[in-house]
Amino acid sequence: MDHLRLMTIMPDGTVKQINPFTGTEVWAVPGRGNRPLGNGGGAPPKPIERHAVEDYCNFCAAHYLSTPPEKARLVQEGPAYRTIDHVAAADLFKSHAVMRRIPNLFEIVTIDYWEKNYGYRLSDRNRTWKEQYLSTPEGQSHVRRVLEIKLAAMGRSKEELSRLDNGALFRMADAFFGGAHELIIMDRHYRPNAQSDADLLASGDLSTDEHDRYCAFTISAIQDIYAQNRYVRYVAVFQNWLRAAGASFDHLHKQLVGLDDWGNALKAQSTAVRENPNVFNEAVVNFAAYNNLVVAENDYAVTFVEIGHLYPTLAIYSKSQRLRPWEHLPEEVRGMSDMMHACHAAMGSTVSSNEEWYYLPVDSVDRIPWHIQIRLRVNNPAGFEGGTRIYINPMTPYELRDKIVPRLYELRQRKVISGMRIAEECVLRPNPLRYYQARTAG
Ligand SMILES: [Zn+2]
Repeated sequence: MDHLRLMTIMPDGTVKQINPFTGTEVWAVPGRGNRPLGNGGGAPPKPIERHAVEDYCNFCAAHYLSTPPEKARLVQEGPAYRTIDHVAAADLFKSHAVMRRIPNLFEIVTIDYWEKNYGYRLSDRNRTWKEQYLSTPEGQSHVRRVLEIKLAAMGRSKEELSRLDNGALFRMADAFFGGAHELIIMDRHYRPNAQSDADLLASGDLSTDEHDRYCAFTISAIQDIYAQNRYVRYVAVFQNWLRAAGASFDHLHKQLVGLDDWGNALKAQSTAVRENPNVFNEAVVNFAAYNNLVVAENDYAVTFVEIGHLYPTLAIYSKSQRLRPWEHLPEEVRGMSDMMHACHAAMGSTVSSNEEWYYLPVDSVDRIPWHIQIRLRVNNPAGFEGGTRIYINPMTPYELRDKIVPRLYELRQRKVISGMRIAEECVLRPNPLRYYQARTAG
């Protein structure tokens, strides 16, 4: 691969870029990005009334009964944290959930898809859970209530709903007990001491410990989706922040969707890594280093501005020989988490973004490093994509770097982030990613 051709800087500063995996051509014209990162221009913030138990949306702590039965919750016990699986309806309000794992009420890939296309049935564990949940009056009325919310949103009338007997409703409840589209929801809607509806709790507002627990809890959910549905080939993990990025609630959450496909991005990466096993170093991380696009690094991960995307994009790559997130050691997950947290904190809570995880599917024998892209949804792509397939990114890679790096220094000074080297402090040995090396025992 000829790296020089991946990026061309024109005399006026226009940066023409080619995505090394998809071949997508992207141009960034300087000056378009000379504005603050925040979306701006929206409605002015409105003061909020603070409630002891937050009740601002269906993901809030007051509304546990408006979301489907809980697959797991993380609770704090003294200095330690513990996961409780399958919290009974009667117990939902008996402990404070630091974060929760619940089915998505509106699945993208539905339980019907798995049942009709694969003959999927609930696993023994999930069937037992469903029977137990529905054996109590609290469980029955919770499931009925949530199904009614779902059906009403789908346009079914009250009369139709009242005609559905328990048997019909409970068959529909399979989606809650064995579906593969899940949410990880943080406890808080607003930051502590929030004054207005702009003071939402974002990823960057968590402490680094909280963010690490958020990642670890998400990773355990990936493993469980695989364990409960053997037809799932890949679990897509993503976080849409704010409505401009596709979020339905302004309450911090991640989504996991089990798929019978890897998706086009991973397929393209798979093809590239078969042609060149070191492609993620050569065309991605070394390339970023040689072009001064690296913004931060710690012992476990490296973060840089990635070229060839429609939106300004920060990428975080694991340096580990371990490929899948759940194969990573806790300190390696922490290293990735610290980088993600730093990116979110540097962007600020008012910038809408998509965080997307990529890792080796369970049925792949390729060697692809765990990596994460954070796309800043700072604009709607505009330009001449339709006719030419050339896309316009509103910010050059250097403009994005120069917005993020000073913020990282400032955050480190304020002790919001720590344990990383920033910009020129980075060591940047060639080939920092070790994914291509077969892992030795131990
Ligand atoms: Zn909320």
